[in-house]
Amino acid sequence: MGGARQRAYLEAIGITAWVARDRAVEAGEEIGAEPVPDPVAADWPQLQAQVAGCARCELSENRTQTVFGVGDPAADWMIVGEAPGAEEDRQGEPFVGRAGQLLNAILRAVGLRREQVFIANILKCRPPQNRDPKSEEVEQCMPYLQRQVELVRPKLIVALGRVAAQNLLGSSEAIGRMRGRVHVFGAAEIPVIVTYHPAYLLRSPLEKRKVWQDMQMALSVAGQVP
Ligand code: SF4
Repeated sequence: MGGARQRAYLEAIGITAWVARDRAVEAGEEIGAEPVPDPVAADWPQLQAQVAGCARCELSENRTQTVFGVGDPAADWMIVGEAPGAEEDRQGEPFVGRAGQLLNAILRAVGLRREQVFIANILKCRPPQNRDPKSEEVEQCMPYLQRQVELVRPKLIVALGRVAAQNLLGSSEAIGRMRGRVHVFGAAEIPVIVTYHPAYLLRSPLEKRKVWQDMQMALSVAGQVP
């Protein structure tokens, strides 16, 4: 069975894991060279292929597929969350399900469509039982996000939740203390705004007001009048 027909067949019966690996192989073939082992110098397709085939940490063993990120690779806004959950692992896309719908609504509230931003996570593979990422997993996976930020070159990053914020900023501060200030990420000193994770807002809807304040700050940092 040829590649396209096999993919269509596998998709029809719902075997997305095989599809993802198949695409990874194709992406690797498209670049027509040895895989680049170091994300530092990778271009976008190389980076996608590296992530799709990554086995740098133990999370590669139980994933359905990697979750690279989604959206505009030249976006002004980058949204960074923690790690894929069960639905994200199944679909291969970050922030799907109820938390994703709430994120879409938050973005709409500030005049942005999901397709206009780039959404990624600190980790590209799902931790079992949605446990917090281990430090060695973050260490292995962060170069991918760092390279994504370098290639997207956003005007700002919005960090969603404690785990994303602490790992992006190398901080152990509580999220409540990180909010309300503009931080910076990386050598390019991309501004970072910290706010609550949509999954937390689903449990604590009264905190939505604070997220609104954070998004007003983000609009102002991005040079978009709130
Ligand atoms: S979590 Fe990151 S480092 Fe670990 S296997 Fe997945 S892509 Fe690789």
